[in-house]
Amino acid sequence: MHYYAGIDVGSLATKCAIVDESGNLVSQGIVATGARVVTAVEAALKLAADSGGVDLGSIGFRIATGYGRKRVEADHQVTEITCHAMGAVRLFPGTRTIIDIGGQDTKVIRVSSNGEVENFVMNDKCAAGTGRFLEVMARALEVDVEELGPLALTSEQPQKISSFCTVFGESEVVSHVADGAASADIARGIHESVAHRVTGLVKRVGVMNELTMSGGVARNVGMRTALSAALSTSLNFNDNSQVMGALGAALIAREKHQRGHDSENPK
Ligand code: ADP
Repeated sequence: MHYYAGIDVGSLATKCAIVDESGNLVSQGIVATGARVVTAVEAALKLAADSGGVDLGSIGFRIATGYGRKRVEADHQVTEITCHAMGAVRLFPGTRTIIDIGGQDTKVIRVSSNGEVENFVMNDKCAAGTGRFLEVMARALEVDVEELGPLALTSEQPQKISSFCTVFGESEVVSHVADGAASADIARGIHESVAHRVTGLVKRVGVMNELTMSGGVARNVGMRTALSAALSTSLNFNDNSQVMGALGAALIAREKHQRGHDSENPK
């Protein structure tokens, strides 16, 4: 049995996905990227291989993607846009719009039914509207970023965060805390602020159903709820959303490897 690996080196997290010869996701590994990309890549690969019971030697082809992809020893490098598109359409075949909110940037990608990228827009100039904004705000509220979403869902009256800038937004959160506002209401306001920002980006590409969320922030239930309300539509999501780019890379690895074999052995 051959396996194929996709490695997505993000600003905060390095993700690895392993697929089998039929393109099924066998396993995944997620580790913090930290300062040493090579160490993170090895750790993510080992984590995925161990959890899927896959021998590293049976991984026939590897493709790297993500902002640190050029530093990875792999057979090919492919952009994240292409990889997220492939991964999203594999998991949710009806996908036409992908919203990828990562640690440091946010992308909205329009895809065709076979996973080809038709258009995309990206915010990579500013932390507002990204996972980084949520992390800074969680710290100001003294909760873990994983707790921020569930906390927001318990709010009855969101506290508006009007500043889009991360630095001013943080000051706003601190002053709401000092004024005695409930943490849940502030948390909901934080998610609504990010949702507002991301909605602006989605509208530049156009809302076309089905919408699928990818990236680590898709794991945040508060963010999914706020975004779905702001866009007045449902969003596809599952537990593999953070590895969607890595999955796309693994699927491209499989395709390239199998195509290479076909040309070596013409029928
Ligand atoms: P990058 O590719 O830039 O490293 P990712 O797409 O891996 O980014 O997403 C990282 C972001 O996802 C971080 O901001 C992190 O806080 C957020 N994240 C990851 N897991 C969770 C979770 N369980 N709940 C809330 N946020 C999460």
